[in-house]
Amino acid sequence: MSVPPPFAMLAEVTHRCPMRCVYCSNPLALEPASKELDTDTWRRVLDEAADLGVLQVHFSGGEPMARRDLVALVDHATRQGLYANLITSAVLLDQEQLARLVDAGIEHVQISFQDIDAAEGDRIGGLADAHQKKLAAARYVTAAGLPLTVNAVVQRYNASRVTEFIDLAVGLGAGRLEVANVQYYGWGLLNRAALMPTREQLDEMTAVVEAARQRLAGVLTIDYVIPDYYARMPKSCMGGWARQFLNVDPAGRVLPCHAATTIPGMTFDTVHDRGLAEIWQHSQAFNRFRGTAWMPEPCASCEYREVDWGGCRCQALALTGDAAATDPVCHKSPHHQAILAMAEAESAAPSDTFVYRGARERADMQRARSPFEAQ
Ligand code: SF4
Ligand code: SF4
Repeated sequence: MSVPPPFAMLAEVTHRCPMRCVYCSNPLALEPASKELDTDTWRRVLDEAADLGVLQVHFSGGEPMARRDLVALVDHATRQGLYANLITSAVLLDQEQLARLVDAGIEHVQISFQDIDAAEGDRIGGLADAHQKKLAAARYVTAAGLPLTVNAVVQRYNASRVTEFIDLAVGLGAGRLEVANVQYYGWGLLNRAALMPTREQLDEMTAVVEAARQRLAGVLTIDYVIPDYYARMPKSCMGGWARQFLNVDPAGRVLPCHAATTIPGMTFDTVHDRGLAEIWQHSQAFNRFRGTAWMPEPCASCEYREVDWGGCRCQALALTGDAAATDPVCHKSPHHQAILAMAEAESAAPSDTFVYRGARERADMQRARSPFEAQ
């Protein structure tokens, strides 16, 4: 049976990034520049995505601006009729680069902020002067008439400043704000014990967001992502495994989600092996957790199985050791109470040590850009 095409493709064009965010969801083993797809291969992948029926491409990373061919890739995507979105830390986004991206047809920019307080934001992001660069870049984006989303990454150290994040988004002219609690993958999972907010902090930020949604209706759309561990129901991760999205990582592996490589025993085809359409329809990885046939109880007979699709496979693996288990965030999982107790214990006695994102990959930033990129 033919599978409907994905709605969007996440193009992780590089893992390189000048920032070192302690919550980064990139894998612990970052792909070096020498393994990145070259420009022509990315162009072919974009062609294949458009042929497959993908409507949106999200250029992401790492920091996508670290690729010198980003403008060429955006230009190619938009010529194929793809809606091009840039997901960026913005620390490399100056006015000239933005003008080139606008000429190439970029249609939306999302900028992440680590805090309202510049020093604290720079501490979490591991890069000096980052906050000021983000502010400047956000103003270039709105001045250019592009829609802007502010991605406010929330954790225990800035949980009390959600009101200020909302004011920032309004002041910058953003149309959308994501108040996104850290999701515990990659470096975020490694630093979970330092980042987990308390239940009281969560309740407070929920109240702030709900009041602001009413106050700012028609001015600012606010998306709100809570820390999974405090939830009663899991999120519909990626809108369901292999249902709406595919992800191409810097080395060309085609993934159902950006954390899927953590799951042992899976085979991920690359864009060198097969075309995107064939991978989407027939690959072992995409079919492993597609639909509901793979589900164990309690998911298999649950009325919500086609609502949340059993939650997140990578989270099930990280917390139970079994990627095929019910997401333990779900209150019906036998692990749910233990996960909740762990979150409460970690938030009550947080670790005061951060592990910053890899030194090796920073060296890549300083040493060289990808040797394969077009000039
Ligand atoms: S989360 Fe931070 S370190 Fe990771 S890619 Fe984004 S800006 Fe870079
Ligand atoms: S039992 Fe499974 S399908 Fe039902 S709510 Fe929980 S995670 Fe979702």
